Amino acid sequence: MKHHQIVIAGGGSAGITVAAHLLNKQPGLDIAIIEPSATHYYQPIWTLVGGGVFDKSVSERSQAEVIPAGAKWIQDRVASFDAGANTVTLEKGGAVTYDYLIVALGIQLDWGKIPGLAETVGKPGTGVCSNYAYDTVASTWENIRSLKKGTAIFTQPSTPIKCGGAPQKICYLAEDHFQRAGVRGQVNVVFASAADGIFHVPHYVPALNRVVARRHIDAKYKHDLVEIKPASREAIFKRMDTGELVSMAFDLLHVTPPMSVPDVLKTSGLGNEAGWVNVDKGTLQHVNFPNVFSLGDCSSLPTSKTGAAIRKQAPALADNLLAVLRGHAPAHVYDGYTSCPLVTGYGSLILAEFDYDKKPAETFAFDQSQERYSMYALKAYALPQIYWHGMLKGRA
Ligand code: FAD
Repeated sequence: MKHHQIVIAGGGSAGITVAAHLLNKQPGLDIAIIEPSATHYYQPIWTLVGGGVFDKSVSERSQAEVIPAGAKWIQDRVASFDAGANTVTLEKGGAVTYDYLIVALGIQLDWGKIPGLAETVGKPGTGVCSNYAYDTVASTWENIRSLKKGTAIFTQPSTPIKCGGAPQKICYLAEDHFQRAGVRGQVNVVFASAADGIFHVPHYVPALNRVVARRHIDAKYKHDLVEIKPASREAIFKRMDTGELVSMAFDLLHVTPPMSVPDVLKTSGLGNEAGWVNVDKGTLQHVNFPNVFSLGDCSSLPTSKTGAAIRKQAPALADNLLAVLRGHAPAHVYDGYTSCPLVTGYGSLILAEFDYDKKPAETFAFDQSQERYSMYALKAYALPQIYWHGMLKGRA
């Protein structure tokens, strides 16, 4: 049994960023990060990889390279949590005890929940693709560039997802590509979403509805993908309002899979009713275990699950954990800030930034609900650099 002052479960965007903030604020802390993957991914760029702008290799770095100096890396998976005993058990065997625990396991992709999806997604000849995993993202561009006629469907599920805008971003890029390739007249573009509108933040809705109308996208709301029939290339949707099943033939099907809290958390005793790690939405401290904190996609924080949100959550969590460690009350309040760079085509983007109340919390003085090339350039070229060299180092 090993002991560390602070154990961080998960070394994705949230785990690495919060470790860096802690070590910047108090060098010498004894921090261990439990993370099985040898590779760290910058997932936001997968939208542009699926759109054929970048190769997927730009999204990866070795995990060893991003673990902050001074933190120990335990290359293993958490098998279970026992918060009452300040212990996590590891999949390869053994256990680690802690004074403080930070849970940052991300969100789980439930490919298996849609019959016909796991066996087709990313496979040549199926027409089924997804930007949501490193292994399948290249298949999105393969399918888009080779489609010359037929129906292209882009789905959004009824569950919480990471980056709520990503399902529609790839739809806009594909439509733009079909126009540029001269095949748009032969391709029917459908955005089929379980949501009841294009976006959940009112300020950005009129501009996005204009994009949908201008691009002649057939938007079908309250349509939840429930099955794929690979042999007949049919996608089966359940109408959220009537429960009716609707079949649509497809030649290209881009799927955003249903998602949920990671299985290991479902039985951990750390979750709220829905399973998300149950933390105070301001301080990020667990509501029952004061030495446990959480941030990122697996947390109960009622904001849109993005890396941009983590950029603001991590310094708050670090300040609050250090306050508790020094015997003080946590005082750094996170306001729910999150951001969704809504790519609306090659060279245009609406930069949505908002808080818990879904009120705009914008960085720039101009109207960010307008499509702009400058914001596209920010996403494509500046944000990846800010991520690797700023956020993951606890400096941005
Ligand atoms: P992750 O970064 O997913 O990390 C979770 C980590 O936990 C992983 O490394 C995993 O290996 C590890 N783990 C899992 N289970 C265990 C276990 N049992 N034990 C130990 N470790 C475990 N965000 C934006 O801000 N802007 C965007 O434009 C944007 N676009 C996106 C587009 C796409 C297609 C996708 C997929 C995501 C996008 N995001 C975007 C969302 C962003 O990538 C995530 O919100 C962010 O990565 C969440 O960080 P996290 O640390 O919570 O989870």
